[in-house]
Parts: sequence; C-alpha cells; structure tokens
Amino acid sequence: MKIPLVDLKANYLSIKPEIDAAMQSVIDNTSFIMGKPLKVFEEHFATFCSVKHMVGCGSGTAAVHLALLAAGLKKGDEVLTVPNTFIATTECISYVGGKIRFVDVVPETALINIEHLERAITPKTKALIVVHLYGQMPDMQRIREIADQHDVFLIEDAAQAHAAEWKGHMPGYYGDVAAYSFFPAKNLGCFGDGGGVVTNRDELGERLRLLVNHGRSTKYEHLMEGYNYRLDTLQAAVLNAKLPHLMRWTELRRQHAAFYDEHLPKQVTCPVEAEGAKHAYYMYEIRTPKRDALMQFMKEKGVDCGVHYPIPLHLQPAYKNLGIPKGSFPVSEQLAEEILSIPIYPELSKEQREYIVKEITGFFH
Ligand SMILES: *Cc1c(COP(=O)(O)O)cnc(C)c1O
Repeated sequence: MKIPLVDLKANYLSIKPEIDAAMQSVIDNTSFIMGKPLKVFEEHFATFCSVKHMVGCGSGTAAVHLALLAAGLKKGDEVLTVPNTFIATTECISYVGGKIRFVDVVPETALINIEHLERAITPKTKALIVVHLYGQMPDMQRIREIADQHDVFLIEDAAQAHAAEWKGHMPGYYGDVAAYSFFPAKNLGCFGDGGGVVTNRDELGERLRLLVNHGRSTKYEHLMEGYNYRLDTLQAAVLNAKLPHLMRWTELRRQHAAFYDEHLPKQVTCPVEAEGAKHAYYMYEIRTPKRDALMQFMKEKGVDCGVHYPIPLHLQPAYKNLGIPKGSFPVSEQLAEEILSIPIYPELSKEQREYIVKEITGFFH
C-alpha cells in the first residue's frame, strides 16, 4: 500500500465539479484581482469563525506579518513565541523590527507553557504570538487575561487551526488578531499560496484592509503605505468551493484520530486533546524515542510520515545570531527528536488507517 502524508489529489477529486466551476467562473469574468469571490470568501470565512472582520491575503506568512503590523510595534519591542513552530512565525517578528524571545512548551500538548510565559514577560514585551500547533489551542482564556494584565498585543498563529476551538471559540475570539494560512496542505487549502487575518476589533479590521492593498481608500487615493498582499480571486474561488466541506473534513480528521488513539500500540505516545480544546488535527503527532527507525520502517512499508518540526527555531542556523545555546528549551528540543506525523487527511480510508496501525504495531514487535 502507498499512503501519502497528505493527499491533495483525493481531496480535489472529492469535490472536483464545484472547484472547476468556481475557477472557470473567475476566468470567464477575468476578475483576477479583488473580484467578487474574494469578498464572498471573506464574508463566509468571517461567519464561519464567528468574527467581525476577515481580510484575505497572499499567504499565511503575509497574515502573520499583517498581524504584527497591526500591533504597531516599535523597533526593539519584544515579541514572545514558541521555538517549536514554522519559521514564518518568527520571520515576521524580524520584518517589523521586533526582538524574538522564546517561551518553551509543555510536553503534554506541545503548546506554550503558560507559567513560563508569565515569567518571560518584561516591560519591553509588546506582543505575543500563540501558535495553535497541529490544530490545537492552549488555554486562551488564561492567556487573554495575562495579555490584558500586561498590556500585550495577542496574536494567534492559526495557520494549522481552522475549525479548532477553545471552550467553544475559534481563533480570533481571544486574540486581538488571528492569522490563517490557506497553503494547499493546510486543513483549508487553496491551489497555491493564500492566507487571511481575522479580528473582532473594528479599528484593526480597517487598518488590515488598508495594509493588504497599498493603503488604498479608493483606486487612486492612498491613506498610507501598505503592501501588495492581496489574496487572488482564483484562490478565493477555490476556498469558496471548499469552505462548506471544512466541518465535515474536520470531523473525519477527528474520527481518524479517535481510531488511532484506540488502536495504536502503547509503545507510542498519542497526542492529547486537552479538556476545553477541540483539536482540528492538522497533524496527528505521535512520539517515540525510536522515531527515526520507525519513520524509515514506515517509508519502506509505503507510508509517508513527517516531522513537525525536526529543528527547534532557536537551534536553526538562521538564528545563530540570537546566541541561544542548546538546552535552553528542553521540552521543545526533546519533542523535536521524538515526534512523528502520520497520515490523518480526511480521505484516508479505513483500510489505510488499519494498515498504518498494523505496520506501527509490527515495528514494535
Ligand atoms: C503554514 C504556517 C505558516 C505560514 O503559512 P504560509 O501560507 O506557508 O506562508 C505560519 N505559521 C505556521 C504555524 C504554519 O504552519
């Protein structure tokens, strides 16, 4: 059996006529930039997330950048985030002249350690980027309280967390701003790069709308300098076709996770869905000290696995200049050596899931 980590083709084929029609309509109208499907998607996604404002943009990275621009940082302001995330999270801190400071995670969920977070805040800390890694949100109610107490701008990196919840609220409710990615492999993905920023704060919504499109108020009037960070109409059309299926796809991911929780051998540690969280399972991350051997074994059996992520950011060559030694964030460092993502995409069949469990069990016997 051959099983990819993510099967974009199976996902496309499952709703091909809807996607083809949506794309053809944009081509027929040649409404490639700021066309109607973009406006429709922004409205529908805002409704889906129960937020007031949604501004589509060109990528998840652009979304995090826009979120940090909305924070209005000054050069040298500190921004806290975790070391076990994709580099886009921290690149954007540098884009706005911020100083990157890391907070370690807790072993159970691989999400930010809230006690460490409280201790890490200094008078120079102006923003915090909480990463909803693998599709799970930490205790955002508590984090919101801490952010309020210290007047810290709260950003949610929700690139992996479409349809995730903390106590019934999706990203964008607790944070000042939440940033989404619609990269093809994400839980809601388009056919290229795409992203979006959501907020409930009117003044931030207005500012984001200016920033994403050259500071434009009208075609030829620019209230400020902005960026060309618009989401393509064609990508918005794909997302419009997919959005009505997102809840069903998320439910399938959760069913696959429940199957794995029940049937994987006890030698691997399965991900924990914390009380209060609704996990969206962008990734199903198991743990074992024998990770590298298991990954190689699964590859030989035809199953693609992944590691998200093998090198914590503070140990990346790109951040050598930060001078953070190995051992500084022990939980993130240990996780990086033990985690393994196994396929959990919605179209995964029962036979495929059973095969994956059988092979992992076989590895340990
Ligand atoms: C995917 C991702 C991003 C960046 O999104 P792109 O659309 O690839 O630019 C940012 N943060 C996290 C946590 C991600 O997983």
